[in-house]
Amino acid sequence: MKVNPAYTTKEAILELHNTPLLELMYKAATVHRENHDPNEVQMSSLLSIKTGGCPEDCGYCPQAARYHTDVDTHKLMNVDTVIEQAKNAKANGSSRLCMGAAWRNIRDNRDFDNVIEMVQAVNNLDMEVCCTLGMMTDKQAERLKNAGLFAYNHNLDTSEDYYDDIISTREYQDRLNTINNAKNAGISVCSGGIIGMGESVEDRIGLLLSYIKMEEPPASIPINALVPVEGTPMEEQKPVEIWDMVRMIATTRIVFPEAIVRLSAGRTSMSKEGQALCFMAGASSIFAGDKLLTTPNPEFNEDQELFEILGLRPKAPFKEGSRPESKPDTIIEEKKKKAAEREKQLAEARKNPKKAKPRRVVNVK
Ligand code: SF4
Repeated sequence: MKVNPAYTTKEAILELHNTPLLELMYKAATVHRENHDPNEVQMSSLLSIKTGGCPEDCGYCPQAARYHTDVDTHKLMNVDTVIEQAKNAKANGSSRLCMGAAWRNIRDNRDFDNVIEMVQAVNNLDMEVCCTLGMMTDKQAERLKNAGLFAYNHNLDTSEDYYDDIISTREYQDRLNTINNAKNAGISVCSGGIIGMGESVEDRIGLLLSYIKMEEPPASIPINALVPVEGTPMEEQKPVEIWDMVRMIATTRIVFPEAIVRLSAGRTSMSKEGQALCFMAGASSIFAGDKLLTTPNPEFNEDQELFEILGLRPKAPFKEGSRPESKPDTIIEEKKKKAAEREKQLAEARKNPKKAKPRRVVNVK
């Protein structure tokens, strides 16, 4: 993804960000039109496949186990439920499904095998599949890629300088490593931030600078407005002004002309007019459906109405890259083979109990 060569330093981006608002919007709308169809907006659906109970301490997040919030925690959804939800999202115009699990990191266990099956199934529905599952190793990224994962979301959230005020249980570098692992596996990177957490404008610019420093900046940059949730350390934060959101979206659009800039959390508190300004400023995607992981989001029919008013069209899938092929997962196939062999042995033992070899008992000291 290209970086605008005119805006690669803190000073230049700060000056851009502080341009009179209408001038900034005009610039952003111009860049947007040069690089994207302004009447197309990607609708993505975000599905929380495992909610709550997360051991991390992200100060904004109601899913952290240490905060007392009203989040309905649940274990990993089963594959059929995910397929049903994906079909519903697709019928309502979504071309991408982002599956989120409140994990610190991916573990190589049965839950991850199930996520691999979810990725294969949703990719076979001809939808772009994105996952946000916490930290990820290079091997795990390869398995996801092999399953047909299109994108991996891992937000930097804020600038490196402000990061320690928000999260203490993992380092900024850990996040950069996961982003690298996704990129090296050939997965499209989705990474962005949250505004309204008490950060300065310099921190907002610092977030963009972190992406500029990357060899390959993210293809997709979600900009979230904090939704303060009771029980989290940020419950008292003031709501983000629409003007701040428009400025951040416009600045991101100009600095990263080719990226998909996503208008993400915080839309419920925005008027239709406010959202229209965000589209004008270069937002090219929204999250659809009534929940954004655990925070409220406008319902599908409200978005359809907004699209009609503004003359927007939902974007088709795979316009920024071809659909990955879902290949069989060797770990799952091996487990299935062993289970089938065991089933065969049991069936034979039931038929000829006298011939059956007793199971070897190993003494464990
Ligand atoms: S943002 Fe993610 S990693 Fe942080 S507490 Fe919430 S679920 Fe856990």
